[in-house]
Amino acid sequence: MAPAAMSLINREVKQLEPGSVYPAQESRADEEPPLASSPAENFGVKLKAIRRELREEYLQPHTKPWIIGFSGGKDSTLLAHLTVECLLSIPPDERKRRVYLVCNDTLVESPVFQEFVNHLLAYISENLESLRIPVEVVRTSPRIEESFWVNMLGKGYPAPNRTFRWCTDRMKIRPTSKFIREQVSHYGEAVLLLGVRRAESAARAANIAKHSAKAEGRLTPHADHKGCWIFTPIKDLTTDEVWIALLKSRHPWGGSYKELIQLYKDAASGECPFVLSKTDAPSCGTSSARFGCWTCTVVEKDNAIQSLIASGHEHLEPLALFRNRLKQFSEDPQFRSKVRRNGQPGLGPLTYEARRTLLEELLAIQAQVGMQLISEVEVRLIREQWLQDRAEETMRSMEKLSEMVENQTKENA
Ligand code: SF4
Repeated sequence: MAPAAMSLINREVKQLEPGSVYPAQESRADEEPPLASSPAENFGVKLKAIRRELREEYLQPHTKPWIIGFSGGKDSTLLAHLTVECLLSIPPDERKRRVYLVCNDTLVESPVFQEFVNHLLAYISENLESLRIPVEVVRTSPRIEESFWVNMLGKGYPAPNRTFRWCTDRMKIRPTSKFIREQVSHYGEAVLLLGVRRAESAARAANIAKHSAKAEGRLTPHADHKGCWIFTPIKDLTTDEVWIALLKSRHPWGGSYKELIQLYKDAASGECPFVLSKTDAPSCGTSSARFGCWTCTVVEKDNAIQSLIASGHEHLEPLALFRNRLKQFSEDPQFRSKVRRNGQPGLGPLTYEARRTLLEELLAIQAQVGMQLISEVEVRLIREQWLQDRAEETMRSMEKLSEMVENQTKENA
């Protein structure tokens, strides 16, 4: 978190009376927001409007479930917080629509952040039960055959970069899309709540504006999933307002946001967004989004991991160095096959030797740091893939040889 943002947050927090971030539950949903005269009042007005929108939308006379895209970062955490608060403000017999808090794990998430998210989700699940609200925590992850390691060390895909980013679709979009499709097929339609905000970037603002043009009421149709509607209740909050809201409040499920805030401070970072479509994919792994996969080579330098190391997470050092090895191997032609996977000449997959070297190094680092970085199933699938590739390669050379013999026989005839 930038020092300037932090001091602004501190100043704003002082201006707010206790409880003013989340106005009292009895505030009426149909009440018009008063005109704001100071940043703090304006902020209070915005939050009141968000709470009203959430409540009105939830109480629509149908049973389409809500799916909250939860990354564990500040924006989706605030969205989950406001949603739970909204449900708590509604009488139990009117809480008819299911709410799914969906979190995707790419299986190569930043270990410190992932540990925090796992802990938070377990805590939320445990405590939501006693709140008697229809919220369920759902974890999604890529099919193991499509994991980062199976693709890179098994099939030899080079580390992802800006022009060949094969990872986002396989590791983020497909797993969550599958869950959404299942809900749409079960309920007929579903509403996806996203914590996106205009203030995140100019591209995000343009994207929100583009989608708003197609809106029906508060909801916009999802570009790729028929029957799925997108709802972005916090889109008008600024980054500082999100921080102030989190700083000023306690989880509705108990506890505080101190750990989340400390994590951002340690990583001096932003988070990788919840990515659900190819139009969102360009923001995945960019320099403005640095909590994400620890293996990410789409960013030139992983500043988050460096800041975490500098702030005491020294055990991440071997991971940071290995991530650089992935990039170095992928960019050096001596570690790449001269033939593409389809048999055509050109810069192809990582050579077997390169894949084997990287796998051995990864397993050594895993033993050194004592954290699971790759699963046994992935190692088995990688070895199977090598055997399969070897067999295909042999077949191709045999076919080539037979063709040459056939040609020579024809010439000699
Ligand atoms: S964070 Fe990087 S490695 Fe992970 S899915 Fe996004 S672009 Fe790919």
